[in-house]
Amino acid sequence: MREKREILVVGGGTAGWLTAAYLARFFEGRITVTLLESPDIGIIGVGEGAFPTIRSTLKFLGIDETRFIREASATFKQGIRFNDWLHAPSPDGTRHQYLHPFEAPFYTEGGSLVPYWLLQDADSRPPFAAAMTIQNRVAEARRAPKRPGEGDYAGPLNYAYHFDAARLAQVIEARAVELGVRHLRGLLTGVDLAADGSIAGIRTDAHGTLEADLYIDCSGFRAELIGKALGVPFKSVKHQLFTDRALACKIPYDRPDTPIESFTIATAHEAGWTWDIGLEGARGIGCVYSSAHIGDDRAAEILRRYIGHDDYTARIIPFEPGYRERQWVGNCVAVGLSGGFLEPLESTGVVLIEAAVGMIAELFPHSGPADAPAARFNRLIAARYENIINFLKLHYCLSRRPEPFWRDNADPASIPEPLQELLRQWRHRPPSRFDFLLDLESFAFFNYQYILYGMEFPTDLSASRGDFPNVEAAEKLFARIRNFSEQATQDLPSHRALIREINQGASRGA
Ligand code: FAD
Repeated sequence: MREKREILVVGGGTAGWLTAAYLARFFEGRITVTLLESPDIGIIGVGEGAFPTIRSTLKFLGIDETRFIREASATFKQGIRFNDWLHAPSPDGTRHQYLHPFEAPFYTEGGSLVPYWLLQDADSRPPFAAAMTIQNRVAEARRAPKRPGEGDYAGPLNYAYHFDAARLAQVIEARAVELGVRHLRGLLTGVDLAADGSIAGIRTDAHGTLEADLYIDCSGFRAELIGKALGVPFKSVKHQLFTDRALACKIPYDRPDTPIESFTIATAHEAGWTWDIGLEGARGIGCVYSSAHIGDDRAAEILRRYIGHDDYTARIIPFEPGYRERQWVGNCVAVGLSGGFLEPLESTGVVLIEAAVGMIAELFPHSGPADAPAARFNRLIAARYENIINFLKLHYCLSRRPEPFWRDNADPASIPEPLQELLRQWRHRPPSRFDFLLDLESFAFFNYQYILYGMEFPTDLSASRGDFPNVEAAEKLFARIRNFSEQATQDLPSHRALIREINQGASRGA
């Protein structure tokens, strides 16, 4: 009997280090955490966009924001701008675009402004995000979400980050080691199973056999424990989310003072979309596509056309959209890509890692059988995946683009039934917080509102106009949002200037 329970994390990518650091911090020495990683295999090293939850995670780990921004080459992210998702660009160059900002729509005690926006004239009202939050104007003006010197992880507007994926893992690794995580470099060469099918030990090339009470599989797409050793099935959702390949590259800025966008630009193309992410020294650009609709050569051509030249090297990354319905089996839990992956449109990779590790920490069996929380964990994580699938699908199924990829996405046979049911209701009322169970969600009702109304979804309240009599008060509030937007745009520094200031502090030793 071991004095303390022991956790062995296999894998040193973002999932492995985040899991190890979080558990070390959460248990403060009451549990031993060891991490094994193979330096030869390396990490996937993609994934440059985060979600605002990362701020509380980094704060909880005790990593200060300035250090994080400097060491992970991070910039601020205030949301995602979607170009050409509703229509392809027209021959005269006009394009449809909308922002999904992180800031919730303005809300007063008197209620929501959403019905009043819906009741305005559709041809003349401002876009939904521009009407509902000051963040739209601030982000479009390339302003930062906070001022220099504002507290760590705080600011007037909600935000996340763009970052260099490889460096993020390194920043968290350094903190994990400070928090007492034992770091072993070596290759997992085999897994011994006990008579009951649980893991008895892990064989390694450099450290003999390692034993633990709980094994956390963070070995990425290789899924060494949950997949190869335990044979837990993978549920593909390719029939709902079609993209399954990405081409990724980095493009340097033309000049060191080129403005940096503080939102991801997601531009739709004939069979998927491209990401464009403003990092400190370069743009991370990628083309996500469905191999059932276009080949690699066509995707490379789309990427080349987007970038405007071919002076770069792109990496091809195949992936299968889906997840394992059972991620905690016996004394093994999968976290990160070994558990599943849904395409990167809304940057949910790290969000799912945070959700899993938060649950492992809270549900951890301090004594008794290691699989006691398994059934609950599996139900909760599967529901979270399914809800993210719905949210991602929403972006695609409302498109009016004519290409086969987009028509297939609008085919009801490819739309999960729970989403179809919500869409039927949302024809007559906007999404509400009661549509969602918070503990199972990564996205709130207002995230759905931004996508629905950015994509011109018709919620028709005209028959119940009389239920919304406070039109004058609503108009005053819309005007206040417009004025605040202008004021905030004047007050906040440019995004590039703030990033420069944070990084120059490093060279001054501040
Ligand atoms: P990996 O980074 O692959 O790490 C696996 C680790 O396991 C490595 O250390 C490896 O050495 C180790 N390992 C494997 N086998 C062995 C063995 N036999 N012995 C010892 N060690 C072993 N997420 C986001 O949040 N935002 C995004 O914008 C985003 N974009 C993405 C874009 C693409 C195209 C893809 C594919 C993913 C994206 N993701 C994104 C997801 C994100 O990349 C992952 O969630 C994140 O990097 C975690 O990966 P991981 O740690 O599970 O796996």
